[in-house]
Amino acid sequence: MPFMFLDPRRPLPTCSAKTCEGCRVGVQCHFRATDLIAFFAVFLPTILVGGMGAYLAGIWWLGLWVILLTGYFGFIEIRVLCSHCPHYAEAGPTLRCWANHGMPRLWRYRPGPMSISEKIVFLGGLVVCFGYPIPLLLIGAEWFLLVLYLSTLFGFAMTLNRSFCARCMNIACPFNGVDEQVRTDFLGRNPIIAQAWNGFNGRDPE
Ligand code: SF4
Ligand code: SF4
Repeated sequence: MPFMFLDPRRPLPTCSAKTCEGCRVGVQCHFRATDLIAFFAVFLPTILVGGMGAYLAGIWWLGLWVILLTGYFGFIEIRVLCSHCPHYAEAGPTLRCWANHGMPRLWRYRPGPMSISEKIVFLGGLVVCFGYPIPLLLIGAEWFLLVLYLSTLFGFAMTLNRSFCARCMNIACPFNGVDEQVRTDFLGRNPIIAQAWNGFNGRDPE
């Protein structure tokens, strides 16, 4: 599905290289359908089990969770996290990456680090979204679903950490796991981002 993703030979809009062929920078700048499928293979079980728990508590609880997830992953996370990602600098009205594929690009690209307030909103939103089914399962004494939900959530977090965050190009994310050398190599190729980070004084940039 080449139309769904950036041409793997074409550098990111932030990158100063003429081509990606032969590049040894250790981050993943391009995505394939298999990346998107892998992401949803670990994300969907968590959502389905959590959704089942919310549904058993009442259809309105499920509806509220759907609204929360849509608002957070469709808009809030895109603003506070993805707008700092080099992938966000691509042309087009929607993102075409391995996780938030199809989400709208409504804001300008911000190449610098996330502010403290953005980190609070990002992390707080994750806690609210993924914590939501837990009290419903506890109150409903749905012990099997509770264990299943926590297991799928743990599996999702571990897989993200090991397989996605360890090679993610968004160095602004608090969960980014690339090492210092990779980060330095990536900044060397992406002067717009390097400039934004060099001007960062460690305080909230807003
Ligand atoms: S760092 Fe630049 S040249 Fe290397 S893969 Fe990423 S976009 Fe391509
Ligand atoms: S931060 Fe992740 S989900 Fe957001 S645009 Fe970048 S690669 Fe996609």
